Amino acid sequence: MNDQGTVLVTGGAGYIGSHAVWALREGGRRAVVVDDLSTGNRDLIPGDVTLVIADAGDRGRIEALIGEYGCTAVMHFAGSIVVGESVDKPLAYYANNAGVTLNLIRACLAGGVKRFVYSSTAAVYGQPDRLPIGEDAPTRPLNPYGHSKLMAERMLRDAAQAHGLQYAILRYFNVAGADPKGRTGQSSQRPTHLIKRACQSVLGLGDGIEIFGADYDTPDGTCVRDYLHVSDLAEAHLAALSHLGGGGESVILNCGYGGGASVRQVLAAVEAEAGVKMNPRQADRRPGDAAELVADAKRIKAVLDWQPRHDDLRYIVRTALAWERHLIACRSSAPAGP
Ligand code: UDP
Repeated sequence: MNDQGTVLVTGGAGYIGSHAVWALREGGRRAVVVDDLSTGNRDLIPGDVTLVIADAGDRGRIEALIGEYGCTAVMHFAGSIVVGESVDKPLAYYANNAGVTLNLIRACLAGGVKRFVYSSTAAVYGQPDRLPIGEDAPTRPLNPYGHSKLMAERMLRDAAQAHGLQYAILRYFNVAGADPKGRTGQSSQRPTHLIKRACQSVLGLGDGIEIFGADYDTPDGTCVRDYLHVSDLAEAHLAALSHLGGGGESVILNCGYGGGASVRQVLAAVEAEAGVKMNPRQADRRPGDAAELVADAKRIKAVLDWQPRHDDLRYIVRTALAWERHLIACRSSAPAGP
């Protein structure tokens, strides 16, 4: 029988985590969110979902919460995600991504939680030898961010072997867009991701957009990425949970659609959706960027019967733009500060 216990969601008040919390609720699952609100926001989650403001790496606290809420599974979204920052502050990344996950796994084992869905990243692959990238491709991260995520993967796999934990490691490609119902979206104050920055740019925020490198060996010279809608990714988490709850094997799965769009194609989609021209500046390559990252999505579709609903760049951009407009409206209606 499929498990119906409470799901402890770390980082559930963040961008991807909050979409998963809404999806869990729509799927009839109970969730308790653990978030330190360092980047998350309580307004992004349903009002009737409990938010515990705590560090996901606080073993004693997490073990107590597991008992208190009857948790049978964990979705671990909390972590640090900015590649450039990870180069400047590697130890913070090893602490937040590897160290916290270590403590969380220990808390799960002590509390009797045996199902663990982990937010990993395509950054574990580094520069791929061939495309699309399958899960068995070599893992050769190019930066501390990718290394820290790969370390957490390793710990989960070894703990599973030794202690009977079941895991689903989900390696995200480029997550973008926002909840189609407008309940949550990417709210970071200092975004680095292309789609968010481009949407802000056409709405007159920021100081314009740059194309980081136009001399790559790709059809239009700019980098190609596999952009996937955040709601499809949230559904993949639910499907992973059901898979494990139904007794399925532990898995590592790429999360992407298996197609690619270049930076120029993304900017064209944003311009078309907004009806505004952008005049991007051409800048140097960003250190550490691979020319092309596209997922082989066969395994996730086969193992989880995952059927993405928003594999459409224009739709992804439309929801991202709607969310930016919502944020602007919220700011303009907020009372003026002191
Ligand atoms: N990019 C860009 N201008 C920006 C932000 C990103 O040209 O303002 C490029 C970046 O160099 C990469 C692609 O867009 O080739 C996607 O970058 P993003 O940071 O969104 O995701 P990443 O692939 O690094 O996870």
